[in-house]
Amino acid sequence: MIYLDNNATTKVDQRVFYKHCEVLNRFYGNPSSMYPTGIVAKEFVSKAREQVASFINANTNSGDKVLFTSCATESNNAVLYSAIQPNISGKHIVISSVEHPSILNPASFYESIGCEVTRIAVNSDGLVDEDQLLGAIKENTSLVSIMLVNSETGVVQNIERIAQKIKSLRPDLLFHTDAVQAAGKLPLDVMRLGVDFLTLSGHKFHAPKGIGVLYIKAGVPFIPFLIGGHQENGLRGGTENTASIVAIGEAASIAQERLGSGVEFSIASLRDKMERLLQESFPDSIIFGKNVLRVCNTTNIGFKNVIGDKLVLQLAQKGICVSSGTACNSVNMEPSSVLKAMNAPEDYIYSIRISLSKETVESDILALIKALKEIL
Ligand code: PLP
Repeated sequence: MIYLDNNATTKVDQRVFYKHCEVLNRFYGNPSSMYPTGIVAKEFVSKAREQVASFINANTNSGDKVLFTSCATESNNAVLYSAIQPNISGKHIVISSVEHPSILNPASFYESIGCEVTRIAVNSDGLVDEDQLLGAIKENTSLVSIMLVNSETGVVQNIERIAQKIKSLRPDLLFHTDAVQAAGKLPLDVMRLGVDFLTLSGHKFHAPKGIGVLYIKAGVPFIPFLIGGHQENGLRGGTENTASIVAIGEAASIAQERLGSGVEFSIASLRDKMERLLQESFPDSIIFGKNVLRVCNTTNIGFKNVIGDKLVLQLAQKGICVSSGTACNSVNMEPSSVLKAMNAPEDYIYSIRISLSKETVESDILALIKALKEIL
């Protein structure tokens, strides 16, 4: 199998896998218990929190919080929920039109029960219209949420600049970024980005599925989404998923090390070579977001009058895994809402997404090009 769908999920790193198994097997105590195996589990959770904090340059000693959640969907839902409580009908939130469904869908739900939602347009490169965004902010706006990297195109928004603009207009306005598709591909620094909240998902950077992170800046108000026991300092009820927390901590340290040694440049050089070969072989194809900054691993390509879903199945028959639209949409024949928002031409809108990782090698790319030539 040739796996080129790393924006859908990634292979668990070997080091992460062994840590995960070790905790499941040997350190199964509840971190809230007071006897030694519980105390060890609690220490593991604290260490993982520091590993993630270091990965995103959060400072837990000065009150920044790194909350472990069940997934990025939960983190995103929690931010929206917190920002509009308790008087939903008086609140206004601003999001972009190309957010992940874990922002778009709860926003639509809250809209249906009285919250006002403004969806900011993007241009044909996928970049948010920053003037429209600033113009949308009102007195009752309680949150702006703009993703750092788009999952379908890899396009990077200038979150740092957007944060500066928002804060100079309304310093108290809360700003969230979904950084799920940035982790392991770009250095992450919450101080530099200037955000109040940031979301991560373990399975997008070689940790297991079912573990997420929500960063909350020191002093920022947060109303818990999951109410239960006193875990996570009372900010999220539910017994900690110790093994997966240790795994995401380890994956964060590994990603930090690899970014330090420039892994993103080697992935980018393979991706750029793949794009050159694709455009030589299929001169009338379109690569979406190509004119602006994208993360190192993502190519979203449309072939004239080719239906992406059909192509995905044909490639799968040859043992090659790519996707069309987001993973969550892969059974859905609607064109991608992201490409629609970017005004993609009708005859190219059913594109495919190819996403590489540190595991991808040149022969994978050559096999993909060969298979595409045979099919198209
Ligand atoms: N946000 C983005 C940008 C994503 O790409 C995804 C998953 O595809 C999510 C959120 C949801 O992540 P999870 O699977 O951890 O809920």
